[in-house]
Amino acid sequence: MEYPGNLFVVAAPSGAGKSSLVKALMELDAQVQPSVSHTTRPPRGQEKHGREYFFVSPQEFDAMVAGGAFIEWAHVHGNRYGTSKKAVEDRIAAGADVILEIDYQGALQIKRIFANAVLIFILPPSWDELRARLERRGEDSAEVIETRLTNAAEEMAQAREFDYVIINELFERALFDLKAIVHAQRLKFSSQRRIRADTFKALNII
Ligand code: 5GP
Repeated sequence: MEYPGNLFVVAAPSGAGKSSLVKALMELDAQVQPSVSHTTRPPRGQEKHGREYFFVSPQEFDAMVAGGAFIEWAHVHGNRYGTSKKAVEDRIAAGADVILEIDYQGALQIKRIFANAVLIFILPPSWDELRARLERRGEDSAEVIETRLTNAAEEMAQAREFDYVIINELFERALFDLKAIVHAQRLKFSSQRRIRADTFKALNII
């Protein structure tokens, strides 16, 4: 099924800078909207229910799975995360561009359902830099950092399944790359024909 809005899916190992890039993109481009996922993990720090995530109990999550509320869901770092149908379909049907910041398993599930979804993988420039970023963040214990690095190897092996790869060495350059992908998507024939319908009509292009 073709929707007027675009669906962008961004995945990365933790520490690659995915959240900062997506946040910066949304600040620059109000047409790109986030989707708020559901998770069984507890809130961290200043996180608010309905803003970063909908924080639900395992029972509530089970009920949503059983009720077919998710277009994808996955186990990530010991918790469950899912994207609700409502968060995505209504908005791309209304012509908005939606961006999902999810793990690679979810991204691959999305591609099976929305063949036109644009999958973007963010890589760190090196192992040393990935480790340094996780340590600088100061959020995780040494043990958790080791687990995240082990998981990162498995996650990065999936980059080949994605449409685009951004290497986040310099933040500004990576942001430029992300904007370029979003922009190119909007220049596709089907998008242009919809956005510039008057011009197409005047030029007799159907
Ligand atoms: P965190 O707990 O650090 O916010 O997120 C942990 C991981 O879960 C990140 O890789 C994040 O992108 C991923 N994630 C967040 N929401 C979803 C979702 O709805 N579906 C899937 N598959 N992964 C998600």
